[in-house]
Amino acid sequence: MSAAKITSTHAERLTQVRERIARACRDSGRDPDAVRLLAVSKGQPLEALRALAAAGQRRFGESYVQEAMVKIRALDCPDCEWHFIGPLQSNKAALVAENFDWVHSIDRVKIAMALSRHRTPDAPPLQVCLQVNISGETSKSGVEVADLPVLAEQVATLPGLRLRGLMTIPRPTDNNAAQRDAFRRLRVASEELRRLGHDLDTLSMGMSDDLEAAIAEGSTLVRVGTALFGPRQLAG
Ligand SMILES: *Cc1c(COP(=O)(O)O)cnc(C)c1O
Repeated sequence: MSAAKITSTHAERLTQVRERIARACRDSGRDPDAVRLLAVSKGQPLEALRALAAAGQRRFGESYVQEAMVKIRALDCPDCEWHFIGPLQSNKAALVAENFDWVHSIDRVKIAMALSRHRTPDAPPLQVCLQVNISGETSKSGVEVADLPVLAEQVATLPGLRLRGLMTIPRPTDNNAAQRDAFRRLRVASEELRRLGHDLDTLSMGMSDDLEAAIAEGSTLVRVGTALFGPRQLAG
């Protein structure tokens, strides 16, 4: 694809996704400004990120640290916000803490402590979500709902982190009722933590295929990849 073609296609897709979000907000009586759009750019070439940035997108989500580092440096966009949404390993904690604004995938205290320790003291705290295994299946990532209060309490005390909310990747299904049921359980878990005194304002839920169901259940941030960029191209 030529650079011009990439630019127009990506700008159009951005408009379409924004319209889907606005419509879903209208349908559930929510303010469209209450839902932020995270462009999930993992596996996408740099020109595609440039095209979306030129069209006004500022929030990007990446899952692989090395791939992300290359793009963060090359895009060189001082007002862009970088969200780490992938599986976290302790040996990558320093790079993530130093180069990202948000992390959505915290599911154990060891990783949280490593991120906090490596956050540059004069930077604002890293904004974090706890990843919850809401479908309770074989998925390796995510804390169980029953273990959330303890993890939230531990994360809330770490000076380099600011606990903002919860994230989930439910088991994929095209059944709307099943989608809503999973997202509702994340919202209820978040309300539970708020009752315990945690000041949470973020529900990171909804992707290309289920963002409408997520918004109906209270999502405040949707993570959208393929609907914005088309199929992923890079390995990983
Ligand atoms: C890849 C990914 C997405 C985006 O998925 P799409 O179906 O392409 O929209 C969202 N969240 C996480 C955590 C991902 O890894």
